[in-house]
Amino acid sequence: GPLSNAQTRDVEALLHPYTNAVQHRKVGPHVIERGEGVYVFDDSGKRYIEGMAGLWCAGLGFGDSELIDAAKEQMGKLPYYHLFGGKSFEPAIELAEKIKELAPMPVSKVIYQSSGSEANDTQVKLAWYYNNARGKPEKKKIISRVRGYHGVTIVSGSLTGLPYNHKRFDLPVDRILHTGTPHFWREGRDGETEAEFSARLAAELDEMIIREGPDTVAAFIAEPVMGAGGVLVPPADYFPAIQAVLERHDVLCIDDEVICGFGRTGNWFGAETFGMKPTSISMAKQLTAAYAPLSAVAINQDMADAIEAQSGEVGTFGHGFTYGGHPLGCAVGVKTIEIYQRRDIVGHVRRMAPIFRAKLDALAAHPLVGEARASGLMGGLELSPDPAKKAAFCEPGKVGAYAADELLKRGVISRAIGDTLAFCPPMVITEAEIEELFAPVEGALDAAHAWAKA
Ligand code: PLP
Repeated sequence: GPLSNAQTRDVEALLHPYTNAVQHRKVGPHVIERGEGVYVFDDSGKRYIEGMAGLWCAGLGFGDSELIDAAKEQMGKLPYYHLFGGKSFEPAIELAEKIKELAPMPVSKVIYQSSGSEANDTQVKLAWYYNNARGKPEKKKIISRVRGYHGVTIVSGSLTGLPYNHKRFDLPVDRILHTGTPHFWREGRDGETEAEFSARLAAELDEMIIREGPDTVAAFIAEPVMGAGGVLVPPADYFPAIQAVLERHDVLCIDDEVICGFGRTGNWFGAETFGMKPTSISMAKQLTAAYAPLSAVAINQDMADAIEAQSGEVGTFGHGFTYGGHPLGCAVGVKTIEIYQRRDIVGHVRRMAPIFRAKLDALAAHPLVGEARASGLMGGLELSPDPAKKAAFCEPGKVGAYAADELLKRGVISRAIGDTLAFCPPMVITEAEIEELFAPVEGALDAAHAWAKA
């Protein structure tokens, strides 16, 4: 039908991220008006279950009165301050203490930003700064992974290993490389076990480091579970094998917990679920349950010491953002973590995970589904025109988008990542709501299957 007033104004005024502009002009935006628990409502009043927690971030759902009150209180008391030049404020200190207490590694210091991209940008600068400080100025390359997602700034977008984040942006910048993806179902060879597959990927990384020269490689960056790359859950052997290579070559392990952090995989951090041994961690999204923008990088003692030692020589640490550690974000972050602890959200994720997984596993039998995968409360269904052959669609992404659209019509917000249908609901989702989330999926897949065959 014709575009509504809000849609027409949107089309004239907004450039949308990750949106086909030509198609958008025709169909207009889907305008969301309000949220409540795991649901959002659009401007026609239609209710949807938010099966993606927005962008993998609204872990406590919508309308949580405790978070709203914490935000209001901070806005009234001190709506803005900063941490430059030695200034500080209580919520920033308290949140850093909480992060130190919960992190899956001994953390010495926390440095704040506003977004996941800025956190990963900061990680690269820290790795470079650290290696300059310890007299290794040549050790600067960062190894990321094909299909990894680490953000969109010039450097974090370079770390991201997805073609559409590079194309026409002249990325990646130099000194950033990409190694293989731990997607066993798609990339495991015939007869190869998960352990052999993991060893092969670790050998590939080892060869890359040796080829580039270990003295030129600063860090490896990885998400415990690749989110925007397609909810790719690594085999259990993968990170231990990778870790051994990193240690052998004195390469830092940057753990991007922007999606996995704060309970998503059934532990406080994905590193614990998958045996990753980080030297530093990026966190964002569920750090504030998405009620305010905030991100943080947590660093170990070595790095903190190196920075402190430099202060005498080169002076101040020349990095920080106006809104890095904004008081609103910090106050909401403190309240968010208190809620996670008091309501045992990690325990809840663990209790719901088998129910969530069983729903995905049941759908794996559908003729359009190649693989069902999940970790905690994030999961995906990889669609295939011929699952037995693990075939891929000749026009990637079309069937996935169609299936997500069909699901939207049926009141569920999911996300098509190429031909993987992703689910990452608010962590507070109940058993009945999981039931409701998955009830229409089979029908949506049937419709997509019929459309794909036609
Ligand atoms: N890292 C990961 C793992 C992410 O999933 C994302 C965003 O989805 C980012 C980094 C970038 O975060 P932001 O969009 O806040 O810049």
